[in-house]
Order: sequence, then structure tokens, then C-alpha cells
Amino acid sequence: MTKMQHDKGGTNVSPFFAGLLCRCPRCGRGKVFKSLLDVAPICGACDLDLSAHDTGDGPAVFVILIVGGLAVALAFIVETSFAPPIWVHLIYQIPFVLGASILCLRPLKATLIALQYRSNVGGFNGNQNDLNNDARSD
Ligand SMILES: [Zn+2]
Repeated sequence: MTKMQHDKGGTNVSPFFAGLLCRCPRCGRGKVFKSLLDVAPICGACDLDLSAHDTGDGPAVFVILIVGGLAVALAFIVETSFAPPIWVHLIYQIPFVLGASILCLRPLKATLIALQYRSNVGGFNGNQNDLNNDARSD
């Protein structure tokens, strides 16, 4: 990362790219998660304090909206095409909703962390200032 990138207010890593790959919002190389949904305390590549994030229930809300919409659309398509009994809907909907929720939750949480870092909100207020101070002292 160059000095010019620090002076622009942080990083040139896209928050959506970093979120999709679950990478650090500052360097784009370190991993955000230490397990399935636990955020690592610091980035292994650039030592960014990731414990400062505060995504709250934001990722879960987006998962509910996205996966819920897809589940309703899928049920509508199956019902209008085949008109199966209700237990058939349960057989494919339960694994679909569980699997899609787990798959979507990690990248959505990482994206919200990256957007918080980019927007200098949540607990990342001090990190951006430290980064800019480091760039000026170089
Ligand atoms: Zn990093």
C-alpha cells in the first residue's frame, strides 16, 4: 500500500470485493473470520484491529430479505409448475433456506465490516485516524 492511498483516507480495496472474499477491508489479503462467523481480533497481514467492528444484526437482516425472497420465489415456481403436496415443499425448502443462509451470512457480514471501515463508522474511527497519522509521519 502506498503513501498516496493512505492520504486518500484509507485503502483502494473495494469493500464489496473484500466482503465477497471475506478479506481484510484495509489490505485485502488477511482473513476477516477466524471460524465460521467469529471475526478475527486483528488482520493477520496488516494488523488492522477487526474487533472494532459493530455490524450487529445487519447481516442477518440482509440474509432474511435475500434468502426469504428466493425461498418464496422457489415455492411459487414449484407450486405453479407441479402443485405438489405441502410436505414436498418442506423437503426442499428446509435445506435450501439453511444452506443459503449460511452461505450468504459470511460474505454479507464481511461486506458490512468493510463498508464500516470504508465509511469510518462503527468502532473504526480510530483506525482511519491512525492510518492517516502513520502516512503523514512517513
Ligand atoms: Zn489487513
